[in-house]
Amino acid sequence: MQFQCKACSTKIEYDPAITLEAMPKGWRMHQIGTSRVLLCKSCGSQIDFNGEHSPYLKQMLTTGKNNT
Ligand SMILES: [Zn+2]
Repeated sequence: MQFQCKACSTKIEYDPAITLEAMPKGWRMHQIGTSRVLLCKSCGSQIDFNGEHSPYLKQMLTTGKNNT
């Protein structure tokens, strides 16, 4: 099956049945506002490194926030 990063649109072909891991190595689900998005290794590690989301993800977070 194909996974796509929500931030940079990187696509990866990955079969969980082969490695018995739910996601490609380094890929993770991240909670952005009220939704969960899949981020690739590099986008996810940016968050780990900076401790915050990229501008794109912040924008997603802002636009997804309707309950002010
Ligand atoms: Zn990415």
